[in-house]
Amino acid sequence: MAESRQSRADGIARTPETMRGVNEMIWETLARGDRHAVVAFFCECESPGCYQPVWLTLETYEQSRRDPAWTALADIHRPARPAAEPAEAHT
Ligand SMILES: [Zn+2]
Repeated sequence: MAESRQSRADGIARTPETMRGVNEMIWETLARGDRHAVVAFFCECESPGCYQPVWLTLETYEQSRRDPAWTALADIHRPARPAAEPAEAHT
């Protein structure tokens, strides 16, 4: 017997995982079309109330998704990570 998935009848909680699932569905649905078309995916941040669009081409989404650590994030929810801290000059 196939294992039954959890009932989603009471509504889907917005978690990064659900948003990722939604994005996967969007991509799968549209992947047959123009791969250079810009599509609004959903922000996959931790905020339960966030429905910010993340504009990506299907091609960019597909390439980014190859990195398991990648998440689609709206610009305003991307963690500000200093790429390279400038060497501090203590004099
Ligand atoms: Zn967000």
